[in-house]
Amino acid sequence: MTATTDASLTGTLDVAIIGAGPLGLATALALQTAGRSPTLIDARAADAPLRDARVLALSHGSRMLLEKLGAWPAAQATPITRIHVSQRGALGRTLMQADDYGLPALGYVLPAQALVETLLHACGQRGIAIRHGIAVQDVEANEDQVLLLGEADAQDAIGSAPVSAPVCAKLALSCEGAVDKDAGRSFERDYDQHALLCRVRPLVPHNGQAWERFTPDGPIALLPLGQDYSVVWTLPGARVDALYALDDDALREALQAAFGPAVRLGAVSERARYPLGLRVRRDAVGKRMAWLGNAAQTLHPVAGQGFNLALRDAWELADTLRGATDPGDPALLTRYARGRLLDRAGTIGFTDSLVRIFSTPNPLLTHARGAALLALDILPPLRHFVAKRMLFGARAWP
Ligand SMILES: Cc1cc2nc3c(=O)[nH]c(=O)nc-3n(C[C@H](O)[C@H](O)[C@H](O)COP(=O)(O)OP(=O)(O)OC[C@H]3O[C@@H](n4cnc5c(N)ncnc54)[C@H](O)[C@@H]3O)c2cc1C
Repeated sequence: MTATTDASLTGTLDVAIIGAGPLGLATALALQTAGRSPTLIDARAADAPLRDARVLALSHGSRMLLEKLGAWPAAQATPITRIHVSQRGALGRTLMQADDYGLPALGYVLPAQALVETLLHACGQRGIAIRHGIAVQDVEANEDQVLLLGEADAQDAIGSAPVSAPVCAKLALSCEGAVDKDAGRSFERDYDQHALLCRVRPLVPHNGQAWERFTPDGPIALLPLGQDYSVVWTLPGARVDALYALDDDALREALQAAFGPAVRLGAVSERARYPLGLRVRRDAVGKRMAWLGNAAQTLHPVAGQGFNLALRDAWELADTLRGATDPGDPALLTRYARGRLLDRAGTIGFTDSLVRIFSTPNPLLTHARGAALLALDILPPLRHFVAKRMLFGARAWP
């Protein structure tokens, strides 16, 4: 890993990015590509994001973007060549194939850690400054600048006092990884679901095929990762504790029973869990401030859209700010927010509908769901419409 430059936080910064997770790092690279001078600030130590247990399914569009940023971890990315979508115990299924779109893959699966490592390396090579160990507690904006008030972690911020001096910037971007619970105008939906993540070795090689299986408890995604499947098993809060406590063999049996016999599952390894929900900040921009990715919208992972959408936020913002004298100009921020409306609303609505329609045991909906999957399968234009939006976002971007 290339060492990143420790940031000097004196003077007025061009753009201060709060959060140096995958999105903050990608945003910094996009901004620098657009001619700006970003500075990253993160509450945690430099190696913390490298311990992220999540596995990301990234679309072909996201790969193109990361390649443009010089940060595509090709060696760690497993291509998805086909996606099989079905529901347990009922008819109806659809199959999407990369060949239908003339693409090498519909998407790619990679550990979040691998992405962070590649992004950090690219930031280091391009001299992008990062300051770790400062938690931003408050942000105050006036007509000319924005002040970030933070607390420094004495262990991580070398030479910093526990309360750091305010950081001054023309624009602040929140890439904090979650919508702030206290955000005034926000919308929330609690699905009472958790994601149980693990890896499982299939008994027969996966050949790049991903599975999305809707069960009465919630969707199960099997994503090809190396020789294994990375599993995202969505479950009601009441069930996840008991399953999480099982040993590897018992967990494999429970997963096989829930998924069904279409894929024969072998050894289970590594596991983690995350609470799931939907939280959306209605205003993605404010005075000299913008909220990106998970800080603007935290989505259920059912359609694997969270980071894909976040990358499109970052790219469009960087493009909007290219060549601007003042990156915090309210007219520019409004233009950015308007430009993102359709993609944000489309992706949020699509993900929310999938969870609500496919994660209910209501038998009346079973036939409707089967009919929808069948319609997708026998009507190529409809399937292509859905697939293209999953590949490139609501405007079939870029
Ligand atoms: C189970 C699960 C599966 C998922 N699967 C997919 C998928 O397949 N495809 C996909 O596209 N997306 C997926 N997502 C979403 C994806 O994981 C997230 O969009 C992405 O990892 C978030 O990255 P981030 O950089 O925005 O946030 P984070 O990785 O959370 O980073 C935020 C950073 O901000 C710092 N920070 C926070 N607050 C402050 C503060 N006040 N001051 C300073 N620093 C601060 C933190 O220390 C942290 O380093 C999934 C999510 C989950 C939960």
